[in-house]
Amino acid sequence: MNLFVANWKMNMTRGQARAYAQELGAKIGDGVSGCELALAPPFTAIEAARDPGARWALAAQNLSEHRAGAFTGEVSAAMIAEAGCRYVLVGHSERRSLFGEDGPVLARKLARARECGLVPIYCVGETEAERREGLTAATLVRQVETLADDPAEAPLVVAYEPVWAIGTGRAATPDDSVSAAAHLADLLSSRRELRLLYGGSVHPGNAVELLRNGRVDGFLIGGASLDPAAFVAIARAG
Ligand code: PEP
Repeated sequence: MNLFVANWKMNMTRGQARAYAQELGAKIGDGVSGCELALAPPFTAIEAARDPGARWALAAQNLSEHRAGAFTGEVSAAMIAEAGCRYVLVGHSERRSLFGEDGPVLARKLARARECGLVPIYCVGETEAERREGLTAATLVRQVETLADDPAEAPLVVAYEPVWAIGTGRAATPDDSVSAAAHLADLLSSRRELRLLYGGSVHPGNAVELLRNGRVDGFLIGGASLDPAAFVAIARAG
């Protein structure tokens, strides 16, 4: 089943999240058939974004690599799971580039997520420079190595998000996303339950085309997901 994840990033107060949830609920009625929706609010708005009817799941945008203790400002996997999240983003390019998160840190975050039954949405993707230098495939290989100790039988979501496409309005072409997804599927062929998402400037106008080939199983959506109407329009493309 296709999965559509709204990554709100550092947007939405609790009040705004409540209004969004209400509008989303009104727009989807009994739900969007044949696909799964998830909202990834900031930690403070997770409760406000919850749907009592469970028509969408919740995801956290980040988690601590530690279990508990003196780590001021951090939020643990146990706290996230208890707050009702099913998913957690790990390795979003903004975490990698702005907060210096790399392989070993991300491997610890994956382990913490698994201990608490959270399904990671592990984000990978090459930078503009890596793409220019023909290093897309090598970058994906390196980033997938972080999953080496993640259990192959556990459900996993991997989001291919080329960094040059995130928030730029310049989405990958369907051909680019197909070839990256094919490469990732190959690298992750031992996984029992894998869904591959595409992310990067998805909007209602390009969603159908990006999904047409059937190679990706949904999207991770940033900017466009802040508008519930656009989020629903994208999900209906699937
Ligand atoms: C993202 O941040 O994961 C993302 C895909 O952003 P955008 O849709 O705005 O490019």
